[in-house]
Amino acid sequence: MAKIWKVDCACPKAKKSICRHKPWKVRYRDPGGRVGKQLEVSFKLKNQAEDFAGKVEREKAVGTYIDPKQSGRLMEDVWNEWLSIGNREPSTLASYRGVYRKHIEPVFGGRTIGSITSQDIAEWRAGQEAAGLAPATVHRHYVVLKAAFI
Ligand SMILES: [Zn+2]
Repeated sequence: MAKIWKVDCACPKAKKSICRHKPWKVRYRDPGGRVGKQLEVSFKLKNQAEDFAGKVEREKAVGTYIDPKQSGRLMEDVWNEWLSIGNREPSTLASYRGVYRKHIEPVFGGRTIGSITSQDIAEWRAGQEAAGLAPATVHRHYVVLKAAFI
């Protein structure tokens, strides 16, 4: 679980509660960091720290957590990297590329991965179903998209 605590600020404005530093710290374990990498983020207000900690834990639980350092990368960039890793059959690669070109790139290709919310993904799925695709097909597209993130 993420840990939240407050650091007393030493600056002169802290006593008057007008200091602009961020005394609330959140420390959490990066699920991608196999050697137990810990990350720390600071906030001005306690509820901001709590919201962030809750969000990280939820995202980790549902597998949508993204390392903050990675979140500025474009979907297209992450996608190409994912495609280049591992050994896949040419037919599998062709199928993934087709899914990307037709369904992922037009919606997410030019976006940073950190800007893509679970709401965006839900709407993306709903849009495909509204366009007449079978739920199983839409789910397959979702699995491909998700795999590229992980
Ligand atoms: Zn301060």
